[in-house]
Amino acid sequence: MKIVGYELFLVEPRWLFLRLDTDEGVSGWGEPIVEGRAATTARGVEEAMEYLVGQDASRIEDHWQVLTKGGFYRGGPVLGSVTAGIDQALWDIAGRALGVPVHQLLGGPVRDRARVYGWVHGSEPAELAEAARAQVERGLTAVKMNPSELLAPLDTPAAIQRVVDRVAAVRDAVGSQVDVAIDCHGRFSTAMSRRVLPLLEPLQPLFVEEPVLPEHTRDLDAVVRSTTIPVATGERLFSRWDFRAAFEAGIAVAQPDVSHAGGISETRRIAAMAEVHDVLLAPHCPLGPIALAASLQVDFATPNFLIQEQSLGIGYGDDTGLLGYLVDSAPFTFVDGSIERPTGPGLGIEVDEAAVRRAAERGHDWRTPLWRHADGSLAAW
Ligand SMILES: [Mg+2]
Repeated sequence: MKIVGYELFLVEPRWLFLRLDTDEGVSGWGEPIVEGRAATTARGVEEAMEYLVGQDASRIEDHWQVLTKGGFYRGGPVLGSVTAGIDQALWDIAGRALGVPVHQLLGGPVRDRARVYGWVHGSEPAELAEAARAQVERGLTAVKMNPSELLAPLDTPAAIQRVVDRVAAVRDAVGSQVDVAIDCHGRFSTAMSRRVLPLLEPLQPLFVEEPVLPEHTRDLDAVVRSTTIPVATGERLFSRWDFRAAFEAGIAVAQPDVSHAGGISETRRIAAMAEVHDVLLAPHCPLGPIALAASLQVDFATPNFLIQEQSLGIGYGDDTGLLGYLVDSAPFTFVDGSIERPTGPGLGIEVDEAAVRRAAERGHDWRTPLWRHADGSLAAW
């Protein structure tokens, strides 16, 4: 079965979809995207296709090796995401050709449902509390929030109190039966983390994500040692080699993104490497339906899976984005805070190509917001 062609679709709110075609009429979908760098990623896919068109679609691992190592220069978000989207589409093709879900090809299911969480946003504690209640009403049993907005590397006691107040408001709103995870977005320094995280311990967050920027991954052990809150990271790490320092630093939760970290193939391997370090898997996925479907295929075949991110209510645009590009959104129905095991072939979803094509006529130009401190210097978003 040869790869004969492909098409890219730039769609709102900030995504890029890939359809890969074969000479046997089987097509597969992938989501190769670096948020804010969609056009750069699309160009990377086009370059990769110069090699892939004409190749055997079933040689997934060999293509992974060529895409990540065949260009001499290696690593990083763009190459990782180009490879990821293509890898997802190749697994989709493999599953569809054989009439089985991808997780069946990864060894079969190890669970019947996968727990998911949703985002809550807001400036004031009351807004966050209301958003959290809305996600629980939607059927979720876990939410994630940013504990701060703009934060100075060493901020004031008032700013620290605001962090505590925000998390406390959400904890109060949802009670102790619902999990609350915290995503610092790299806005805390190591020193701020050591000061603030112990103050959040009585609120028992599920985990604290990216307390520091990914370039400080090697130093995460200082944060890990300073708090009982499980430390999570990984959405800005792109391979098992990138994750090595995080595991050695003692993180509790690994968060590879199946659209950034080399796709289903590499996310699966990162999960296995995590298991060696007694680390749980919580794949990052603020993305579209193809990325979520690909993540779920890994989740259902991974023993050390914890929870799956998904983008309903994430606040980058209309919620119809996740569900509106599907012929049938039933695979993403939440039952008691979880998604049931998908049984359809390949990634287990049917992409509505007509809807995708209409959206691609509009496209998007989403860019990462630029934040600045009060003194005018650049701040972490
Ligand atoms: Mg994050």
